[in-house]
Amino acid sequence: MIQGETFRFNLAALQSRIAAACAVSGRPVDSVKLLPVTKNHEVEAVIYANDAGLSAVGENRVQEAASKRAEASNLDLYWELIGHLQSNKAKEAVRVFDRIQSVDSLKLIHRLDLMAGELGKPLPILLQCNAGEDPRKYGFMADALEGALEQALSAKHLIVDGLMTIAPLDDEPEVAKRCFERLRDLRDSLADRYKIALDELSMGMTGDLEVAIKAGSTQIRVGTALYGSRTQASDSK
Ligand SMILES: *Cc1c(COP(=O)(O)O)cnc(C)c1O
Repeated sequence: MIQGETFRFNLAALQSRIAAACAVSGRPVDSVKLLPVTKNHEVEAVIYANDAGLSAVGENRVQEAASKRAEASNLDLYWELIGHLQSNKAKEAVRVFDRIQSVDSLKLIHRLDLMAGELGKPLPILLQCNAGEDPRKYGFMADALEGALEQALSAKHLIVDGLMTIAPLDDEPEVAKRCFERLRDLRDSLADRYKIALDELSMGMTGDLEVAIKAGSTQIRVGTALYGSRTQASDSK
């Protein structure tokens, strides 16, 4: 696990990257939120983020997040699930997380709605779209997104904040660019057709955040640039 000083250094460097990308696209720097991704790191990663004034963290597993959240229960943070969720863990996920970004099936929409109702906790969600048509990624295909949105909008206990995607891993930035622009265009047309906001466009990670910001991302999810490589981090502990 890195030291707090290293984290602060990494964060400053990342903020310069974000500012530069915003400048290039003529966007105000506060139009892009940073979600620090603390998965596979110790609870210190969460504490560093909080101490730096960041207000949310992203995790990809329910159990891991539950135990960190319990350890960091004195901190006022917004916990976001960004990893694939099995329906049988939906109830625990609704308990642990403030928002679920990785809603990727109709079954999960129904299950989350049911659990949010049972727990009396209206649940903000994003619909995950496989906008890059990557067979190794979860998410609704573009042509299934509208149907999913209709289901989610009619779910009483879900609040649809927007869309999320993960670009295919590819050295060619053009691949990520196409994926992100596609998600933005899908958002624009769905927002228009259903007369809803769908404000959140969660897209961009360490390797492709500039492309994402240029395509209109409102939230980048960043692990490696802040905390170092996840395998190294656990090896060096
Ligand atoms: C791990 C992860 C990230 C962070 O990726 P980095 O490349 O480490 O910045 C972002 N989004 C999702 C969905 C992830 O699983």
